[in-house]
Amino acid sequence: MEANAAGRRRRAGWLAALLIGLLGCVDTPGKSDPGIEPAAVPAKVYQWKIITTWPKFLPGAGMSAENLADRLRVMSDGRLDIRVYGAGELVGAFEVFDSVSSGTAEMGHGAAYYWRGKMPVAPLFTAIPFGMTAQEVNAWLRYGGGLALWRELYAPFDVVPFAAGNTGVQMAGWFNKEINALEDLAGLKMRIPGLGGEVLERSGGVPVTIPGGEVFTALQTGVIDATEWVGPYNDLALGLYSAGRYYYYPGWHEPGAVLELIVNRQAYEALPADLQEMVATAAQAINDDTLADYTARSVAALETLEREHGTLLRPLPAEVIGKLRETSLQVVADAAGEDELSRRIYDSYTGFLQGVRRYTELTEQAYLEAR
Ligand code: CA
Repeated sequence: MEANAAGRRRRAGWLAALLIGLLGCVDTPGKSDPGIEPAAVPAKVYQWKIITTWPKFLPGAGMSAENLADRLRVMSDGRLDIRVYGAGELVGAFEVFDSVSSGTAEMGHGAAYYWRGKMPVAPLFTAIPFGMTAQEVNAWLRYGGGLALWRELYAPFDVVPFAAGNTGVQMAGWFNKEINALEDLAGLKMRIPGLGGEVLERSGGVPVTIPGGEVFTALQTGVIDATEWVGPYNDLALGLYSAGRYYYYPGWHEPGAVLELIVNRQAYEALPADLQEMVATAAQAINDDTLADYTARSVAALETLEREHGTLLRPLPAEVIGKLRETSLQVVADAAGEDELSRRIYDSYTGFLQGVRRYTELTEQAYLEAR
């Protein structure tokens, strides 16, 4: 009984203090009143910009930036309010990295291989020819030391990277003539970024890197002879079927392209710990969601391409694939460059690939062959 009475007294005292606190707050705002908890101050709202290398609302890649911003707004109860800009709206597609580095925008969404001119080893954080699949690269980034190396590579630019999307295995691309032998690549002017472009060049072709928003026009007007972009879902959206006749597979050059979220270091470090964790968690969710989106929608898109647009599917001949693989090994080794960090990244990537290759052969590959 005595304990209950004491409890009631404590609750009454607490209630009175709360009422005094509330009334006090209304009557004398800002006035300090010792012994009474101050009223909660409104949470600080961070109004950020995310700039992207994608056309605004591009299915898959472009929507992953929109989804990231939407999720963060809800998760943070409006405290992290991010406005999304498509390529060219605030800065050009290929200015995204520098603009996040300088703080023009707090965030960017794109792909590491676009920054190859600045960091030759960067493509290892998107995709390399005959490299890891989405499942394998996620394992390397999260549990094989890949993400830590990626952070180290971007650190001098005050940019913090996160994996935030994956396309899965891409298609080899759109061609207006059939590729029957390696000679058919000679002189071929093709939009193909990253190390795949380098492989094409060493195979006699002419690689071109242009942003997604310009690919269709370049192919249609004959500025380029061929292009890769992503896969059925994205390629249908860009209308590439009306500019290219043959749709080749597999995407030997991009077997699981990682899309990146990059954040300006100072902006990121200024966030409270809970918002930092939300950014990391949202990036991981988007990383997973984008792959599911690409996979599911590409099924329907491929059907539309074949049935409605008469797209002709062609596998790259084994002889061509064999030669491309051979050249790729050398191109990737050369891309690693001379410096110590690039070498560590190359060793880490290829070491992980070596190990996971055997495991994948026993699991995914053996299963797919059995299915
Ligand atoms: Ca691509």
